[in-house]
Amino acid sequence: MTGAALRGDHHVHSTFSDDAVSSLAENVAAAADAGLTTLRLVDHVRRTTAWVPEYLAAVRALEVPEGLTVLTGVEAKILDASGELDIPALPAGIDRILIADHQFPGSDGPLGPTAVRERIAAGWSPDDVLDQLVSALIATMRRHPGNQLAHCFSILPKIGLAEADLGAERTAAWAAAAADTDTLVEVNEKWGCPGIPQLRALRSAGAEIVASTDSHHASEVGRYSKVTALLSGTEEP
Ligand SMILES: [Zn+2]
Ligand SMILES: [Zn+2]
Repeated sequence: MTGAALRGDHHVHSTFSDDAVSSLAENVAAAADAGLTTLRLVDHVRRTTAWVPEYLAAVRALEVPEGLTVLTGVEAKILDASGELDIPALPAGIDRILIADHQFPGSDGPLGPTAVRERIAAGWSPDDVLDQLVSALIATMRRHPGNQLAHCFSILPKIGLAEADLGAERTAAWAAAAADTDTLVEVNEKWGCPGIPQLRALRSAGAEIVASTDSHHASEVGRYSKVTALLSGTEEP
């Protein structure tokens, strides 16, 4: 299971993202060099993003080596607790949206980590914060089924909390929603998340786990160390 997952990289950025440096073709070449069989090319979008058709045309024009499957995606943040995403109208051809916890999904819109820390300091109980985060993730999966959770729970350390604070009940509800909604959950090399208890809950629920580097440079594509440890830790009895 671990070996098969490590032959995919489901979150690789190219120059369509402001903060990434490699071209689509460089990422494809790097994936082939790393011996991958699956590569998902993904870039950051907002509601105002206009380049998605151009990106899809560029992906279609790629020369893909035999044995490698190239998939497409866009990465978008969750805007609020109702599961609204920061996406433009998407043309056909985007295989999956990567649903990202770049900010905290507040009731009226995204909250930055500092704002959440301040509210916690002012008395917002961590249990209520965690309930709101998990219910927003579940609402997003139900509203936008068939997509992928990007570096899920990477927001927690930024707001002074940890995956260990989630507890079994929230984790199980989250994992069941992923399985129910055909949501892939990536285990992310850059952020080292989700952790082993969350990955085990996904496995028990029957959700599909994929590996990703969140690469912003072709040299990172398909190169795993944290992901390898997390996936093999998940398989131990
Ligand atoms: Zn991200
Ligand atoms: Zn990313």
